[in-house]
Amino acid sequence: MAPAANIAALRHGLDAGDYSARELAQDALGRIEAANPQLNCFITVTPEQALADADAADARIAAGNAGPLTGIPIAHKDLFCTAGAPTTCGSRMLAEYVPPYDATVVARLHAAGAVSLGKTNMDEFAMGASNETSWFGPARNPWHRQHTPGGSSGGAASAVAAGLVPLATGTDTGGSIRQPAAFCGVTGLKPTYGRVSRYGMVAFASSLDQGGAFGRSVDDVERLLQAMEGHDPQDSTSAERPATTRTAVAGMTLGLPREYWNGLDAGMAQCLQAATRELEAAGCTVRDISLPHTAAAVPAYYVVASAEASANLARYDGVRFGHRAEAPKSLDDLYRRSRGEGFGAEVKRRILTGTYVLSVGYYDAYYLKAQRVRRLIRQDFLDAFGAVDAIVAPVTPSVAFELGAVQDPVAMYRQDVFTTPASLAGVPAMSVPCGFCDGLPTGLQLIAPHFEEGRLLALGAAFQHRTDWHLRQPPA
Ligand code: GLN
Repeated sequence: MAPAANIAALRHGLDAGDYSARELAQDALGRIEAANPQLNCFITVTPEQALADADAADARIAAGNAGPLTGIPIAHKDLFCTAGAPTTCGSRMLAEYVPPYDATVVARLHAAGAVSLGKTNMDEFAMGASNETSWFGPARNPWHRQHTPGGSSGGAASAVAAGLVPLATGTDTGGSIRQPAAFCGVTGLKPTYGRVSRYGMVAFASSLDQGGAFGRSVDDVERLLQAMEGHDPQDSTSAERPATTRTAVAGMTLGLPREYWNGLDAGMAQCLQAATRELEAAGCTVRDISLPHTAAAVPAYYVVASAEASANLARYDGVRFGHRAEAPKSLDDLYRRSRGEGFGAEVKRRILTGTYVLSVGYYDAYYLKAQRVRRLIRQDFLDAFGAVDAIVAPVTPSVAFELGAVQDPVAMYRQDVFTTPASLAGVPAMSVPCGFCDGLPTGLQLIAPHFEEGRLLALGAAFQHRTDWHLRQPPA
């Protein structure tokens, strides 16, 4: 039951009776209890439910009915609805919210026998890149606690990196799985838009939001994805596709987009070049490509995402659910104060920006234009994938920064320069650990055409077969 055991080893231990799912859950709960006061990566821990689920998993294992994830501990980002357990979305607005139903992802993993230990910290409504917009305070990076774990799925990445859970769910709208994975030295996959059901995920920007997976290795992330993915009648944008399977690596052509590589921090560039050489040694050919509209991705993303957020967050009015102001004097006063008290500054900024870009007179200048730019960015990827099988890129412009170091909202938005393009295009992308700069992990981003997650898994697994960055563990 080593904290860094992989899923295959845990599966073997459970099936061989070396330990029970209950013991595994108890062990993880103990580690969470010890580490969470420092890391703040869990908003809610659910020990009773976890032990009940673990007992059910043990019964299944004893009956010979175990699936790949039966009895394996997991944590869910706190924007996946969990029946009977708080789902706060990192916000005061939903601090008291207990959903009456499970998100499809949660239900599928529960049905697979995975044992959920609780809900992980995140930026408020998934808006942020450092976990600092969370109403519950920031999660911390286990490699250096003064540094951010990234965001918005910072709690998930921190928990996996610290060895508290082997697997965690996350969501990625503009980078929220890939960036925290890179900052914490774990593996994170954002699937193709539509690969994983959004039903029961608290909505931020519905045309971009996508659930995905964190684990220490590509092998583990693959198992989690296979249990999450697939069409769901409850989400009309979820796709009817064959299950993800790995492709072959040898003979693949990889593109290095010059817009991502020019001007990169020297230490980071070295790690990425070394990583690229490993992929060449695994049988890939590497060539330069161009994604000419890359620089327009951040502005387009912040117009589109904020516009959708302003519409999605209109539902929090203090009436049906969510924070409700005390003793309202009128309906208007109820709306005003419930929303004023319930939302933090960054969420308000997005709602105001989003409402502005959708308003009469500005719609064409901002929203429509951003949609056109989005189309060009998508076309960049389609053109590139005419010549290469996958793209190799950095995930972030730097390693994890210190908490409090990035104060200017626009400087924070610029953190998303390498992650928002794939989000706008809807293509799958993965971050795998590829080295260290200044003692902090850095990630390699692999990007594939729509529904070609199999190529990402193959490339990532080949890379991890040749390197041991993913096996490094932060100091206890
Ligand atoms: N950092 C980006 C934002 O603040 C991405 C967040 C996300 O992917 N949820 O919007």
